[in-house]
Amino acid sequence: MSNCRYCGSLSFGANCPFSPNQKHEHHQDGSRCVYCGSSSYGHSCPHSPDGKHRHGSDDEHCVWCGSGSVGSGCPHAPGRRHER
Ligand SMILES: [Zn+2]
Ligand SMILES: [Zn+2]
Ligand SMILES: [Zn+2]
Repeated sequence: MSNCRYCGSLSFGANCPFSPNQKHEHHQDGSRCVYCGSSSYGHSCPHSPDGKHRHGSDDEHCVWCGSGSVGSGCPHAPGRRHER
């Protein structure tokens, strides 16, 4: 488990005292959503500002879909481009 990068708490979701958007955001972990800690991708993140799971960057996988691809064609990224 990781802690919130802003306040150090193990919590997820709203009410982070130090986050710019009041959401706890956890340390970069390629296997987990930084907002909710789930291993899912795509819509239905309960805590993300835009409703999408975003994983930590590990330089090998897209933060939005987990694919190893680069460039355009990401099904979940806001700009449709895979992002590390
Ligand atoms: Zn926090
Ligand atoms: Zn999430
Ligand atoms: Zn992607």
